[in-house]
Amino acid sequence: MNNALAGQLPEELSDSLSLNASFRAKQIFRWIHSGASDFNAMTNLPKDLRNTLHQRFPSILESSVPACRTDPDDGSVKLTIRLKDGLFAESVLLIDGRGRKTACLSSQVGCAMGCLFCRTGTMGFLRNLSASEIIEQLLMLKASYGDITHIVFMGMGEPLANREAVMKAAQLLHHPEAHNISYRRITLSTCGLADQIRTLHQDPPIRLAVSLVTAREDLRNTLMPVNRRYPLRELRSSLLAYQRASGRRITLEYVLIRNCNDTPEDIAALAGFCKGLKVLVNVIPWNPVEGLSYQEPSPAGTEKFSAALEQLGITVSKRLRKGRGVNGACGQLAVPLNPASEPHESS
Ligand code: SAH
Ligand code: SF4
Repeated sequence: MNNALAGQLPEELSDSLSLNASFRAKQIFRWIHSGASDFNAMTNLPKDLRNTLHQRFPSILESSVPACRTDPDDGSVKLTIRLKDGLFAESVLLIDGRGRKTACLSSQVGCAMGCLFCRTGTMGFLRNLSASEIIEQLLMLKASYGDITHIVFMGMGEPLANREAVMKAAQLLHHPEAHNISYRRITLSTCGLADQIRTLHQDPPIRLAVSLVTAREDLRNTLMPVNRRYPLRELRSSLLAYQRASGRRITLEYVLIRNCNDTPEDIAALAGFCKGLKVLVNVIPWNPVEGLSYQEPSPAGTEKFSAALEQLGITVSKRLRKGRGVNGACGQLAVPLNPASEPHESS
């Protein structure tokens, strides 16, 4: 078991710290998630216990923040986080006009799915993050920017390829004595691992978003290699099953790429995919990624595409373009400091 403190429930802390009284574990749990930096700060613990634990764990967090950048245009923030083995992960904080603060958390270092339009996809897969490493991202954002209202697993990585750690993190985010964030305000985004989606209703009731990107089989096979494993028909039937079991609406993320997936034929295919599903389509203008030659849509092109969907009775939301100034917008996450081209990338 991973013994890092931020990923443990009170009963697990009780075991791993060999505590005699369960209320001590609860006290420590509350301290950890309220941002205590070490055991010395936990003033309601007996002094000798504090000292013993401090010797074992000089710091609560295992990761650290070597870089933090704020986008001068929209105030969004990107943290680059150094993990204990020296690799780097990234998290983004997005703040909207209504004071809603959304933390975009990473679930893996890199990603194995290889979507052609995504910067993380170009760096390959290095490793999964633990539940603790996921929670530490939030703790570091909270330490600098205060309470967070919403969580999206839309940072680096494919969350359903690291489902156990992500769901454990969701439990901790939701725990009333930890972060107390409602499951309805936590969203997981997947590229479409259909067999995982089929059983997702058994997990904590967080929201599901699927990066559809295109409803044309041939194009999806090209842009998203995962489609060769789980073709559209299978993805759609897994979504129907999930919806039947959970009753929840699903968000379909449509990354709009100029002259690629923005034609009337694309609209017709998307409308066909949506039929019979309760969905919200999130149209996301493709963000430029260095080294990739796709084109971003014009604002008018995005508008036109969204309006055409609405005309067909599809509910559409347009995601704000936030975080571009810090390379923290969707699909722009990748850490150049990671040894992405080294041999273990493909292992
Ligand atoms: N792996 C998961 C979650 C991380 S990607 C997934 O694919 O859903 C988060 C979102 O960013 C996805 O919706 C993805 O389609 C989108 N995205 C990837 N690259 C992008 C880019 N260059 N511009 C805009 N969105 C992008
Ligand atoms: Fe991975 Fe998501 Fe990027 Fe695809 S879009 S490569 S699944 S992070």
